Amino acid sequence: DSILLKVNHLQTSFFTHFGEVKAVRDVDLTINKGEVVGVVGESGSGKSVTAMSILKLLQHPGKIISGNIIYKGQDLAQRSEKEMRKIRGNEISMIFQDPMTSLNPLITVGEQIMETIIEHQPLNKKQAKEKAINLLNMVKIPDAEKRMKDYPFEFSGGMRQRVMIAIALSCEPDLLIADEPTTALDVTTQSQILKLMKNLKGEFNTSIMLITHDLGVVADICSRIVVMYGGMIMEEGSVEDIFYRSKHPYTLGLLKSVPRPDMDQQSRLEPIKGTPPNLVNPPEGCPFAPRCDYAMKICTTTCPEHTYIQEGHRSMCWLLHEEAPKSDFLSEGDE
Ligand code: SF4
Ligand code: MG
Repeated sequence: DSILLKVNHLQTSFFTHFGEVKAVRDVDLTINKGEVVGVVGESGSGKSVTAMSILKLLQHPGKIISGNIIYKGQDLAQRSEKEMRKIRGNEISMIFQDPMTSLNPLITVGEQIMETIIEHQPLNKKQAKEKAINLLNMVKIPDAEKRMKDYPFEFSGGMRQRVMIAIALSCEPDLLIADEPTTALDVTTQSQILKLMKNLKGEFNTSIMLITHDLGVVADICSRIVVMYGGMIMEEGSVEDIFYRSKHPYTLGLLKSVPRPDMDQQSRLEPIKGTPPNLVNPPEGCPFAPRCDYAMKICTTTCPEHTYIQEGHRSMCWLLHEEAPKSDFLSEGDE
């Protein structure tokens, strides 16, 4: 696989009245050409901030502290806002959870798609219109030509998300970053949108970074999954590694909280107890330690490094670390 994007040691903080919120702490992430990578974690785990850092769309008081964001060999962390605007329009697109906030309510959907096309491609109005209709057909909006004249509020949530995908694809991006694209939608629409993204990925060979709090969403569409917690990557592996071979307590907790069609949902769902850490003063050791049933003394003082379980499958947990002390479980020794 050839590498499209490589994030090295990314650290991003927000400098607030309460102190420095360390939202992303030393994240390494690779996305290959044509690959769909799922980034999964509870809200506040640093997924969206990682995406916003890649695109350099962080709002004040957010700031990239250190790290590289190597895209096609150049470091985006060093690019000016002007250069980034070019990259954002042409190379990397993004879609969000709520398309209503990204669409202009006063302009017809057709005009909005055409505007984006004309902004980035040397096409005249007529050609842009044709292309817009094509795109709407591609994202399976019925009566595409007629619907060009409709305003965003005249579309359902699912149809609006299709419009956003059409706009995002209008520049034929090499990378599409989708942040909770189906979270606001009902289950049926959600699976239709995911299927659509999967098909389009096949057609355009676009790489996709799919951000979600829901592990259930990523299984079908992703080839690789990155699990984040407390601003760090807890585990990374293939879908099979994460679903069937994970030994990481946080990933296992997430898996238990995923609704599964083959199980009675009520009896099955088991949310992870406790709340994510305060990232102003993150725990010194493993960020999951305060919630982890397996936490040992060392977990509260020292953050473990990633251990490779096999190629492509890494996990940040003392339980898997060869230097881990074997017998100092907090719950046993220290009453
Ligand atoms: Fe739990 Fe320790 Fe592993 Fe963190 S390092 S997940 S606290 S066992
Ligand atoms: Mg988010």
